[in-house]
Amino acid sequence: MAIPTTTVLVVEDEDSFIDALTVGLAREGFRVQVARDGAQALDLFDIVQPDLVLLDVMLPKVSGIDVCRELRSRSKVPIIMVTAKASEIDTVVGLEVGADDYVSKPYRLRELVARMRAVLRRVPAAVPVGASGGGEALTVGDVALDPDRHEVVIRGEEVSLPLKEFELLTILLENAGRVLPREVLIDRVWGHDYVGDTKTLDVHVKRLRAKVEPDPAAPTRIVTIRGLGYKYEMPKAARV
Ligand code: CA
Repeated sequence: MAIPTTTVLVVEDEDSFIDALTVGLAREGFRVQVARDGAQALDLFDIVQPDLVLLDVMLPKVSGIDVCRELRSRSKVPIIMVTAKASEIDTVVGLEVGADDYVSKPYRLRELVARMRAVLRRVPAAVPVGASGGGEALTVGDVALDPDRHEVVIRGEEVSLPLKEFELLTILLENAGRVLPREVLIDRVWGHDYVGDTKTLDVHVKRLRAKVEPDPAAPTRIVTIRGLGYKYEMPKAARV
């Protein structure tokens, strides 16, 4: 499940963080490039052409805030700011410097990676784990989905889906025939935005079934795999 083509530019001046991130993010399948100060980050950016920038706020030479502003003027690259103090969060958010998200030190690598994937998912050009390359159209049985146009056609009729339902259906169709554990679905669709209880996923599945299933009371497309998660059934020839 590696993503060898996703390059992260880590802008960080503390050795302990650089070491931990280099090892940890590589293990998660990211290509890691490191800039140790703000000036180097700006120099390296055009060379590295990262898919995502992880940017410490407190940096030597050029501050993370200024680096973020400068990068934003050059590129739409996803930027996650890293803050060390609560007061810095206020600065990052209040100044609206154009960052896509922020994390506070100390953070767990798991949390950081979930946020990175969530941010990457919002960018069509950067393809996260398991997503459809290049946003190609998906057709499974009588359901067709076009990620680029955000269109879903069910049994010949165009159906309008809210964003989360659309994302959930995309992942289910991409992985048709495979069991998707609840945690994977939650991480892929909501990431760190998942603040609701564990029923949120089930509620969305129920809404999707109402649109996708010929008989929502007896699902044959989006099936529950007890104790695990959900699976989108591949169509069988005999099934109508
Ligand atoms: Ca720092």
